[in-house]
Amino acid sequence: MNSKELFEESKKYLPGGVDSPVRAFKPYPFFVEKARGSKIWDVDGNKYIDNCLGYGPIILGHGNMKIVEAIAKQLSNGTSYGAPTENEITLAKMVVDRVPCCEMIRFVNSGTEATMSAIRLARGFTGKDKIIKFEGSYHGAHDYVLVKSGSGAVTLPDSLGIPKDTTKNTLSVPFNDEKALEDLIKKQKDQIAAVIVEPVMANIGCVEPKKGFLKFLREITEENNILLIFDEVITGFRLSKGGAQTYYHTIPDIVTMGKIIGGGFPMGAFAGKKEIMEMIAPSGNVYQAGTFNGNPISVTAGISTLKQLDQTFYKDLNKKGDFLRGKIAEIIEDLDLAINLVGLSSMFQIYFNPKEVLNYEVAKQSDTERFLVYFKELMNNGVFIPPSQFECNFISCAHNKEDLTEIAIAIESALKIAWNK
Ligand SMILES: *Cc1c(COP(=O)(O)O)cnc(C)c1O
Repeated sequence: MNSKELFEESKKYLPGGVDSPVRAFKPYPFFVEKARGSKIWDVDGNKYIDNCLGYGPIILGHGNMKIVEAIAKQLSNGTSYGAPTENEITLAKMVVDRVPCCEMIRFVNSGTEATMSAIRLARGFTGKDKIIKFEGSYHGAHDYVLVKSGSGAVTLPDSLGIPKDTTKNTLSVPFNDEKALEDLIKKQKDQIAAVIVEPVMANIGCVEPKKGFLKFLREITEENNILLIFDEVITGFRLSKGGAQTYYHTIPDIVTMGKIIGGGFPMGAFAGKKEIMEMIAPSGNVYQAGTFNGNPISVTAGISTLKQLDQTFYKDLNKKGDFLRGKIAEIIEDLDLAINLVGLSSMFQIYFNPKEVLNYEVAKQSDTERFLVYFKELMNNGVFIPPSQFECNFISCAHNKEDLTEIAIAIESALKIAWNK
């Protein structure tokens, strides 16, 4: 069956034909046959350069041989024990060595579980109930954070099925707006347990913090006995060895991780200072548990991944990002388009929007129809990017210069078509 037929079939068994909403782009998504390095193949015989990379985890390219070999070895020794392994300590130490705020860590199965547990921990630690998030930020798919949430879903209404009682403790303010946050904290500081932030808002595209904004968050939370949670599910091990907190020199109290840390397998984690983390069961009274927590496959893949992510790795990867963004910037200038290229390190997006995008309000005003023309045309030219204006493009170390040049050429022709140039 081809992708079109598979999608028709799939819709009979899976709601909307997919297992996660962003995948169901129109008229139908391609079904994947395989992926290797920087490329992904569909069942219709097309090959694409992959700038979606599983929405972030695949920083080493698909089918990285070191990970594959490590996993193959682990597979025959069993896949789940419900008992601890030495590898969990090994991975924990690797993360502690790299990530500044991290003294202790709990491994879970997804970014969603990580933020859910981190918020519970912050509430347990402070004895307060409210949290503040930023409009358009995405912290996974659990009830407490599905308020003004991003993730390709900027145009969707808030989810049904979430009791008002659950979200009454979730407050939100615009990103990069110090005054709004200050006013809110002034009014309610005795009730606020935590501020949770994506240091780079990668679920409404790619919005960087204004200079000094993260430092401001650090100070105002510290002054008011509020914990600062960095949701580094995307930025962790992406922006640098220590993630966004190293990149921006700002240390939160708790960090949540996911995506890259599992080396392409399901995993998440939350981590922080010892005195906070020791409140987690069984050493403390904040409950958290999971059948597959710290499972040997994800942990093995995580170890193999982090081993490969050294300083040289980031230098090379960031150089590739700079090279590609440089090319795209030239193209935009040559075509004289009023659109906005954003990004850093190995992340980027083009906002079909003439304004500088500093928050969700402005991101929302982007020309999403034109973006879809651009997306489709990129596919026609053999480049796969996330199918939404409000997701982030990634590159991996498997993307070579030829790939990057090919991407730039495809972008040029897609922009021309989207703008009738
Ligand atoms: C993807 C993502 C999550 C959710 O992670 P899952 O593994 O999909 O549950 C949480 N926070 C951020 C910033 C993310 O990008």
